[in-house]
Amino acid sequence: MATMPEKLLIVGGGTSGWMAALHMQDAWGDKGVDICLIESPMIGTVGVGEGTTPLLRNFFTRLVIPESEWMPPCNATYKCGISFPDWSTVKGYETYFHPFYSNRDKEYAQYFRDNCKRRRNGYDIPIHPDHYFLTAALARQRRAPVPRDKPATENLYGYHFDAALMGEFLKEKATQRGVTLIQDTITDVSINEHGDISHVETQHHGSIKADLFVDCSGFKGLLIRQAMGEKPNSTKAYMFNDSAVAIPTPIGDRGEIMSETISKAMKCGWVWHIPLSSRIGNGYVYSSDYASKDEIETEFREYLGEDADGIEALHLHWSPGRLENHWKNNCVAIGLSQGFLEPLEALMINVIQTSIERFADCFERGGFTNRYREDFNGQVNGFIDGILDYLQLHYKLNSRDDTAYWRDNRDNPNMSERLARVLDAWDRNEDIDRVLSENINHQLYPPLSWYCILTGMGRFPEPRNGPLRLPVRQQQRVRDLSEQYAKTFYPHAEYLKKLYAG
Ligand SMILES: Cc1cc2nc3c(=O)[nH]c(=O)nc-3n(C[C@H](O)[C@H](O)[C@H](O)COP(=O)(O)OP(=O)(O)OC[C@H]3O[C@@H](n4cnc5c(N)ncnc54)[C@H](O)[C@@H]3O)c2cc1C
Repeated sequence: MATMPEKLLIVGGGTSGWMAALHMQDAWGDKGVDICLIESPMIGTVGVGEGTTPLLRNFFTRLVIPESEWMPPCNATYKCGISFPDWSTVKGYETYFHPFYSNRDKEYAQYFRDNCKRRRNGYDIPIHPDHYFLTAALARQRRAPVPRDKPATENLYGYHFDAALMGEFLKEKATQRGVTLIQDTITDVSINEHGDISHVETQHHGSIKADLFVDCSGFKGLLIRQAMGEKPNSTKAYMFNDSAVAIPTPIGDRGEIMSETISKAMKCGWVWHIPLSSRIGNGYVYSSDYASKDEIETEFREYLGEDADGIEALHLHWSPGRLENHWKNNCVAIGLSQGFLEPLEALMINVIQTSIERFADCFERGGFTNRYREDFNGQVNGFIDGILDYLQLHYKLNSRDDTAYWRDNRDNPNMSERLARVLDAWDRNEDIDRVLSENINHQLYPPLSWYCILTGMGRFPEPRNGPLRLPVRQQQRVRDLSEQYAKTFYPHAEYLKKLYAG
């Protein structure tokens, strides 16, 4: 017989804490588990984290919370994918769009892959991913991923939202559904002779005991790192970024809202632009080894122009890396306490959601014991390491020459064997599908995304044969069809207005 924990304490009320609370309440609340969350009004949350992948749709679907209910109070918008301007200097490939895929893309994705193969085989044909995918056309036209004539079931898309408002929304939902909220600051964590956490001490609520502790306390990892001594493995040798500065700006008055994130390369890093219905979130992610925070803020403000005048900057610093043991004894870390690589591709909320779901599954399958703890740790590490490969690829493929930052990133010899193998196979024109399936089989991004980034940044073996005309015409035709089809979707701003009006 499975023994349910009687009490579960979630430490931290940021996005990770409230997502964990809602999921666990949904899974175990009606089985008599007392789920409690403590957050510190003194400490607050990290205040960033506003772009997602399509996985977030499943989170809200599982909890039966429709978009019409959560998007308006979070000033949320739709996200069709991410543009990457200026990472590459290869002519014709100075920018590319990493799409979220729709069912309709299946046929065109096959053309795309076939044309990639031709291009790698030496035919001198243009092959740009932006021409093949519906979401690229939707983003170009600033449309929502919602067709006018049917519900938005066909397309995969993510979201942008205001992190603070999302925290408030999730908190309200979780407490309505039975999660107990304690607002207080933890001052001490006690470990018993078995290495388990027995209780935490708080400023105003005395000591709080629980059977299971979920550490969502952010970068510091109050339980897993500070109390239990888990040390993160650094990933700084692979990707150098460790800092960011965020400065929001007003949305323009042109009556349009972008339906994509823009991740534009700068001198010593890259800038994100995340469109919300109320403002644009902007941030410059960089490596403190290459520029000071003042230098970066100056470059960033010059770039943003007068829109940013008088708006305070939020500076953030982290040690990039991940834990080896995300679940140790009776404590599981979820969110920034697990580690953080960097914000490129906006994946952390995906890691959070995946970790919560896999933990709940392993914990339950093991009869609410630690039986599948190693499984869980292995799964999460494999997932994060796969993300590291894909993110590092952006830096390895860059062809900028303007600063040491970009040259050092490109020439960086530190990378996983998997990534080195894929790059080598691509350049040598080996069977890339086989190499991808051997090396990235269980990773977040499908082979198509690897094709997109490799071609999108213009990485090709030198052409050997003469031009082949057919694929050029075909590419143009696919692009024209996508542009036409995209016109049957709502303009983003118009659809949001309709959704927000209820
Ligand atoms: C620059 C940057 C950009 C990012 N962009 C993205 C993005 O676009 N997409 C994405 O998916 N992710 C992004 N992330 C990651 C994202 O911000 C986080 O994953 C997300 O916000 C979850 O944070 P968290 O809940 O783990 O921690 P936090 O938000 O830091 O919350 C920590 C909580 O712990 C509580 N706490 C701490 N100490 C105590 C104590 N002693 N007692 C009681 N409570 C305590 C605090 O009160 C707070 O409630 C970004 C991160 C950074 C740094």
